[in-house]
Amino acid sequence: MKLVQFKTKTSDEARLGMLNNDVIVDITEIAPTTLEFIKRGAAAAHAAKNANAKTAFALDAVEYLPAVNPGKIIAIGRNYYDHAIEGGDEPPKSPLMFTKFLNSLNAHNANVTLHAISEKIDFEAELAVVIGKKASKVSEADALDYVFGYSCLNDVSARDLQFADGQWVRGKGLDGFCPLGPAIVTKDEIADPQALKIEGVLNGQVMQSSNTNKMIFNVAYLIHYITQAITLEPGDVIATGTPEGVGVFRNPPVLLKDGDVFEVVIENIGTLRNSFVSAQ
Ligand code: ZN
Repeated sequence: MKLVQFKTKTSDEARLGMLNNDVIVDITEIAPTTLEFIKRGAAAAHAAKNANAKTAFALDAVEYLPAVNPGKIIAIGRNYYDHAIEGGDEPPKSPLMFTKFLNSLNAHNANVTLHAISEKIDFEAELAVVIGKKASKVSEADALDYVFGYSCLNDVSARDLQFADGQWVRGKGLDGFCPLGPAIVTKDEIADPQALKIEGVLNGQVMQSSNTNKMIFNVAYLIHYITQAITLEPGDVIATGTPEGVGVFRNPPVLLKDGDVFEVVIENIGTLRNSFVSAQ
């Protein structure tokens, strides 16, 4: 099942839908949000399978919202070997955790503002993990039981702020710098989260091309590691790190500019597309 949060173009009311090929079946009556859907568990999933396809919208009739509204977003830095190396760093010996605040959430197809405070704004294609149930001190063996689903995420980064501050809070946390979607794909559709082709595509040109099998710390280990310290709640998002090919470490660097379109493409999960626009 592929869950999307959206509005119709004629109403401001947020709705929940199920992406079925090229239509969105409205399941707002079953649960009003992705987070509520997750919390309602098997009953909601069962009801959605029997949802009335008559209440469907064409994709061009909707405006996407962020695919889930989590309580928190935990991100992992340098989690692909070749990305750590391209940045001149040793691969980390344990997961390098940071956070993106909820002000950074953004939607599929939405414009991302190139805030004037930064001159070095970069892209990072990442697999997002969405938690399905409260997780505290879980074992690596049980960790995937706590996953609800997966999505695409762009960990947009203001490199000048990130590197100057030392702490990554500001450089990674600007308003709108966490596009997430278009859909949350439930885990039953993903046989192995460590065997997914992942690409970052800038204006049609492939800049990042890897596979989630190249993560240094896999999804199960990350959940195990995080939950030794921090309880994960339903709907919480883990951004699992980006592969090599980001803009700032290219020669010459490729930084985002007005009019650029960046896509995060993950096998069996979807394509997250955003345009980047100068601050007015
Ligand atoms: Zn990242």
